[in-house]
Amino acid sequence: MRVHLCGVRGSAPAPGAEFIRYGGQTSCVAIAPDAGLSDGRGPRLVLDAGTGLRRVTGLLHGEPFTGTIILTHLHWDHVHGLPFFTAGDRADARVTLLLPEQEGGAGAEEVLARGMSPPHFPIGPSGLRGDWTFGTLAPGVRKAEGFTVEAREVPHKGGRTFGYRVSDGHSVMAYIPDHCPTALGPGPEGWGEYHPAALSLAADADVLIHDAFLWPEEVAALAAFGHPAADYAVGLARRAGARRVLLAHHKPDRTDDALDELAARFRDDPRVSVAAEGQVIDL
Ligand SMILES: [Zn+2]
Ligand SMILES: [Zn+2]
Repeated sequence: MRVHLCGVRGSAPAPGAEFIRYGGQTSCVAIAPDAGLSDGRGPRLVLDAGTGLRRVTGLLHGEPFTGTIILTHLHWDHVHGLPFFTAGDRADARVTLLLPEQEGGAGAEEVLARGMSPPHFPIGPSGLRGDWTFGTLAPGVRKAEGFTVEAREVPHKGGRTFGYRVSDGHSVMAYIPDHCPTALGPGPEGWGEYHPAALSLAADADVLIHDAFLWPEEVAALAAFGHPAADYAVGLARRAGARRVLLAHHKPDRTDDALDELAARFRDDPRVSVAAEGQVIDL
């Protein structure tokens, strides 16, 4: 599979000259089947719809999006790109959008419309052009666009949140962009618990894309907002046997120079790198 990192910023977009190399768009990863198996339509499975979703239109070279968007949760930085997804908002688009089953049983379109409808936004989800289907998903394994997608609930803050494990039968990508493992306890090093859901999502993955919002010295003051230290992501990859870990969901004030410092901290471990918008990973 080919994985396009379309947005690796967390919380809010970060435009400007200090954010060029790692990018400022919020959470979005687009996945295309292996080139040899592909019918040339580009990405068909998209995880999260932050402002990085706008980049997916460019990957489709003028074609409409026909595929599935699966959300980890409904925070702004994971849905704000939705109404600006030009390749999905046209008459010939076909989009299935899935989000975690909500406590209380609210429907997918209803819960999306709470943040995307007047007076918050000019249109609701049903105002998107093309053939859109909205649905919820439960933890477990399902097929989507030819991929096997496993969903597991992970602790975060303010709304049910899933991590995903995507396989094409040859390669595995694990995606946990928002994760607060300290909510389950300090764990062996104080970075949070290495709990069964996280370990199983990342187990022997070819690549783990994981929340690295905080620096270790920020954990005590800021972990209550729902995120871990980058060190937890590295610890999880080591314990789960993931071959690579990409540190992602960067704090909006983290400049390119600050993220270079993060990369330098882990330079002795070749499995660790810092996710950058526009990066393409072939698995
Ligand atoms: Zn987020
Ligand atoms: Zn979040």
